[in-house]
Formats: sequence, structure tokens, C-alpha cells
Amino acid sequence: MSDVVTCLWGRAGWDRAAQGLLGAGRRLADELGGKLRTIVLGPADEALVTAAQAVADSVVIAEDETLAEYNPESYLAALTAACQKFAPRAVLLGNDAYGQELAPRLAHRLGGSAAGDAVELSVADGQLRVTRGVYGGKATAVIALMKSPGVIWVRARAMAPADAGAAGEVERVRLGIAADPRVKAIARHVEAKEGVRLEDAQLIVSGGRGLGGPEPFQKLQALATAMGAQMAASRAACDAGWVPASWQVGQTGKKVAPQLYLAIAISGASQHVMGIADSKVICAINRDPDAPIFKHCAFGLVEDYEKVVGPLAEKLSRHS
Ligand SMILES: Cc1cc2nc3c(=O)[nH]c(=O)nc-3n(C[C@H](O)[C@H](O)[C@H](O)COP(=O)(O)OP(=O)(O)OC[C@H]3O[C@@H](n4cnc5c(N)ncnc54)[C@H](O)[C@@H]3O)c2cc1C
Repeated sequence: MSDVVTCLWGRAGWDRAAQGLLGAGRRLADELGGKLRTIVLGPADEALVTAAQAVADSVVIAEDETLAEYNPESYLAALTAACQKFAPRAVLLGNDAYGQELAPRLAHRLGGSAAGDAVELSVADGQLRVTRGVYGGKATAVIALMKSPGVIWVRARAMAPADAGAAGEVERVRLGIAADPRVKAIARHVEAKEGVRLEDAQLIVSGGRGLGGPEPFQKLQALATAMGAQMAASRAACDAGWVPASWQVGQTGKKVAPQLYLAIAISGASQHVMGIADSKVICAINRDPDAPIFKHCAFGLVEDYEKVVGPLAEKLSRHS
């Protein structure tokens, strides 16, 4: 029992999370000396299948109609059935809302161990080990999974993709999953897509409660446009209704991993930092020299944002 299963959602496509997840799965399977199988739930386009095939030893696409839309009960039943069939040593899911919802329940059904928010996976003394941040990223814990399989949700966007080189088989299966009446989607709202998804953005300009209202976000928008960046915000700014809830970054918002995260008038509460910990470089502008955000950033400016944002946007637009 040394195989690894990775779980992909067909609708999400071949995004950075899928690439990182398969990268992590490939490396773990190689370390264990086993095969990497990828299970795809929901409609999978050709681009996703071709890309997954180039990394995994096999790609199993579940074609049941009951899996066309996400339903926790049907998805759990499908993953349980597939994992019982393949008997893997480890099952990896992304650190998205579905992965977090399904992984602990899947571990229970398979009689295995669950651990989440993994930034590193390893094998030592025959044990599967997960490295994860704890206390809002202030410390790191290494957890040994004592039961098999280890069901792990990983910070997939922070994981390096694997080189394409495999020629995995593709298998289309029907798992016989019946519709589950316990949970039913009664409405669906598709978020208007503007530019790159926040989770995939390379540059992010983010504003907090210190901006004092919705209008200053327009100044931040001018800066973001000059930089070619996406906009984000703290929960306090979203809860105040200044910007859409979809901009929220953090523990209960989106987990981002840009090259540059510019936090403006954001204090740096641990719940916010949890969502930005995978950023390559964090910069902050805050007028309080003791703001916790300065402990997490590579570059910090103690200043009133009003004195900085406008001139910086103007300077950058002149050079772009
Ligand atoms: C269970 C739970 C989950 C949570 N999840 C999230 C989450 O996902 N994301 C999240 O963001 N928060 C989350 N929070 C809330 C979090 O604890 C903080 O309350 C929130 O992040 C604070 O937002 P803020 O930094 O914008 O506001 P504040 O903490 O009020 O900070 C505002 C900052 O602006 C600075 N400032 C003020 N005026 C200026 C100026 N003119 N120029 C420059 N700087 C200025 C201040 O010095 C201050 O540091 C969660 C909380 C809980 C309990």
C-alpha cells in the first residue's frame, strides 16, 4: 500500500491549485515508491485531463450525473468508493472549501487519519508526516499520521507543480452514486469574473479598515491598475460593506499566494495573515509602528496611506 490518490474538481479546471496538488502527489508517490492516481469529480475538460495525464500514472474520471454539481454527500460517497477500490496510502485534497469539508469525513469513513493545511509532506520511519503552520502561522508543527490512509488537505497553491513527463492512462468510470436528498443546491450565483482569480493573482493590493470607508478603495484601485494587480481586502473592510465579500483574504476568506502582497491599513491579525502566508513578498503601509503586520512583511512603511498611495499610483502610471 504505497499509492497516492489526488482529488480534483472538474469544474475548477487546471488551475494553480490543481497543478500544486498533483505536484505534491507526484513527489509523495515517488517517495513512497507507489503510483499516483488522480480522481476527477464533475465535468472535466480535455485540457485538465491532458495536463493531469502528463503528471499522474492514471486519471480516473467519475462520470455519474449525480457528481455534475458539488454535493458534499455525493462527493464523499464517490471518493469513499474510489479510495476503497484503490486502497491508497495517502489521499490528497486541495485546501479549498470542498477539500476542507470532505477530508475529515473521508478519513473517518476509510478508517484513516486526517490532517490539514499541509505545506510539506514527507515520509520518515515508515510514517506519513505533515508539516503545517499553527497559532496563526507563528509556529510550525510536524504531525505523524498514525492510521492509514492519511487524508490530507494541502496548501496546493504553495506547492511546486511537477514536470510533465508521465503518460498516464485515462479511465472513465461510473461509481453508481445515487442522488442524496439530504443536501440540495437551491440557488447558484456565478461571480462576475474580472481579470485573474484572486487565488491565482501574482500581484495583490489589499485594503483594510484603516482606510475608513469605501471611497479610498478607489485610490487603491488606481494603484492596483498601475501595477497590474488584483484588489483584495481584510474581513473588517468586507464586513463593513465597503467592498465585495469575494475580496476577503484570510482564515475565512481566500488563501492567496502572489509574488507580492501589498497590505494597506491592515493591522495583520492572525486570521488575516493565515490567508497571505504563502505570499512570496509581503509589504505593508500602516501608520502604527507596532501593527502586527510589520512582523510578517519583508518591507514596511510606517506612514499614513494617504501620503503614499496617490503619489505611488501616479509615479507608476507615468512609467507604465
Ligand atoms: C473566526 C475568525 C475568523 C476571521 N477571519 C478573517 C479573515 O478571513 N480575514 C480577515 O482579514 N480577518 C478575519 N478575521 C478578523 C480579524 O481578527 C481582524 O479583526 C481583521 O483582520 C481586522 O481587519 P483590519 O486589519 O482591516 O482592521 P483593523 O484591525 O481595525 O486595523 C486597521 C489598521 O489600519 C491602520 N490605519 C488606520 N488608519 C491608517 C492610515 N490613515 N494609514 C495607514 N494605516 C492606517 C491601523 O493602524 C490598523 O493597524 C477573523 C476573525 C475571527 C474571530
